[in-house]
Amino acid sequence: MPETARMNEALAVKYGVNVPRYTSYPTAPHFSRAVSEGVYRNWLAALRPEQPLSLYFHIPYCREMCWFCGCHTKATRRYAPVGDYLDILLREVDLVSAAAPGPMRAAHAHWGGGSPSMLSAEDWLRMVAHVRSRFTFDEASELAVEIDPRTASADYIAALGESGVTRVSIGVQDFREEVQRAINRIQPYALTAKTVELVRAAGVKSVNLDLMYGLPHQSVDSVLEQVDLAHGLSPDRIALFGYAHVPWMKTHQRLIDEAALPGLGERFEQSQAAAMRLRALGYVAIGFDHFARRDDGLAQALVEGTLQRNFQGYTSDDADVLVGFGASAIGQMPKGYVQNEPAIGRYVEEVKAGRLPVVRGAVLSSEDRVRRDIINELMCHMEANIAPVSSPDTVERLAPLVEDGLVVRQGTFIRITEKGRPFVRVVASLFDAYLHYGEEVRHSKAV
Ligand code: SF4
Repeated sequence: MPETARMNEALAVKYGVNVPRYTSYPTAPHFSRAVSEGVYRNWLAALRPEQPLSLYFHIPYCREMCWFCGCHTKATRRYAPVGDYLDILLREVDLVSAAAPGPMRAAHAHWGGGSPSMLSAEDWLRMVAHVRSRFTFDEASELAVEIDPRTASADYIAALGESGVTRVSIGVQDFREEVQRAINRIQPYALTAKTVELVRAAGVKSVNLDLMYGLPHQSVDSVLEQVDLAHGLSPDRIALFGYAHVPWMKTHQRLIDEAALPGLGERFEQSQAAAMRLRALGYVAIGFDHFARRDDGLAQALVEGTLQRNFQGYTSDDADVLVGFGASAIGQMPKGYVQNEPAIGRYVEEVKAGRLPVVRGAVLSSEDRVRRDIINELMCHMEANIAPVSSPDTVERLAPLVEDGLVVRQGTFIRITEKGRPFVRVVASLFDAYLHYGEEVRHSKAV
């Protein structure tokens, strides 16, 4: 093994611990039942009418389960459950807009899941029209949708363009059939290429492709080949996610052959080689798992210092209020977080009864806010002033990272080096006051 590979493997083993992805702070496992429907109603009523909102809609259905999936979703071959769910989702939209202080502006709307492309073209148009009737959209509003090429029909994609969608994220993971079989997601290259073509023809401005490393049967060379194939489709953004193997939490992942999974060192090599190739191809590295063309909004947000991280990952969305709709959806309000009932049946019952289906959340303390800002700065900009929480203990815990050249510390200012970028979650976790020893089994590997 070459010297660099050996050193990389040693780092991956040393810092390849299980840590949160920090799409919120406190992270979702620390939400409690103290945040109920009543609290959420008060938070909604207290919003300033001119406050721009970010909206998230969760569609928790897919045609079949991909075995690597970590999302909150359910497989169904029938349309009826999806159509019925949509009716309830729109009732929740009515409940929330009635609780807010008047018609509010939606700066961003994001549909994820699950597969929003499980919806028919008609239902998609009905949903967007309904949302537009309850919230105010303008020309600057962004509408983003995650789609699965296997369920996105040509009519559906045309409807995305018709309804004003500005960005589409397409799940790919790996174009090779051997890998696709091992993860139960057969999606030929030609289908993905056709989907990209249709999306562009529909007038959607921005295309994101999701790739994955750390999957069964992948190697450094094969991952590089996937990066080149994805680049050949001219996406504006590429997300490069590490497969999170957590079969104790996601039981369908037990169907994945563990013997075909790359080891920690190999996995790290794959991520590093892919990141290097993406940069060589002209993409800007955003945080630890996104890459964007220089003219893309994410790359611009990075330069302007406005890059944010929320439940959808890295975003240029600077609205400080995120309203989540749908089973399991999480919202972020000025005073804290709220999460909807995850079980679809109970979510439906709550909304039918006219209740906002919130089951848990977190009220932010002043210390939470300070730590959240530091973690956000690190996750987005790879540097932070840690003065408000600096202590001899923090300095001691940072020391090995400094020694290994992953972090540079000057007094209370810390900067994550390029070598340290893949370990940003590990650095961020040092400022997480809720993360206790033994809890890490809930999270995925940091590299
Ligand atoms: S299509 Fe997406 S959300 Fe659905 S099972 Fe596959 S990875 Fe999960």
